[in-house]
Amino acid sequence: MMTTSPISLSETVQVGGNTLLLMAGPCSVESYEQTRAVAQAVRAQGLSVLRGGAFKPRTSPNSFQGLGLAGLKILRQAADEFGLLVISEALGVEQLPLVAEYSDIIQIGSRNMQHFPLLWAAGEQPKPVLLKRGFMSTIAEWLAAAEHIASRGNQKIILCERGIRSFDPSTRNVLDVTAIAHIKQNTPFPIFADPSHATGRADLVPAASRAALAAGADGLIVEVHPNPAAALSDGDQSLPLSDLPAFVNEMRQLSAALGRSLA
Ligand code: PEP
Ligand code: MN
Repeated sequence: MMTTSPISLSETVQVGGNTLLLMAGPCSVESYEQTRAVAQAVRAQGLSVLRGGAFKPRTSPNSFQGLGLAGLKILRQAADEFGLLVISEALGVEQLPLVAEYSDIIQIGSRNMQHFPLLWAAGEQPKPVLLKRGFMSTIAEWLAAAEHIASRGNQKIILCERGIRSFDPSTRNVLDVTAIAHIKQNTPFPIFADPSHATGRADLVPAASRAALAAGADGLIVEVHPNPAAALSDGDQSLPLSDLPAFVNEMRQLSAALGRSLA
């Protein structure tokens, strides 16, 4: 059994300690109005981190690719208005400084888990990094990827289980709850879960979230949208903002039952 080494995200926000963290926001930043509405709802629930993609790793080049720099600016503005921290994904080495300039936490996505130059660049800058598990990567490969970041100097690494590919099309991926327990018990890294990408279905997000927290996750990163049916990406798995209060309330009660609390 190894104890988790907590990481400070700001002067008041920490991950990996007794307090669980719930990061929430849209898959993609689509507009100022959309992002501001989400930031307001996130703040109203007492949460402290806003997620949102500005550079999107889409399977098809015909899908919405994100607003890029304009998206980062929207995200920062909306977060600042409500006193929130920002997490956003960097797709490549050349855009990492830009993402770091506008975000408090840098997300490295599932498709980039073994993008070694990106891992090295993330290791050579000071912002915390959330490293998602490759959807076809073993736990050992994932931990080796984290070591690539750490070896360049940055020890502020949060791991995120976001589901792995299986034979079953009923869900987008399979949430590897065992991986969460393994990381928690055998490594010093705080471990998060992403129930949205793991399931691909908003109706399964609460149950997957409960399972993740029960297995020892230090927090969740969840997709929410003012109008999921109109989302430019991942609408099927996004909770409507109207569901956020009940969801957060449920996670708070579960956290208490687990002897932890939710920030
Ligand atoms: C996302 O967070 O929107 C995303 C693209 O996640 P993943 O890298 O896990 O697919
Ligand atoms: Mn998404």
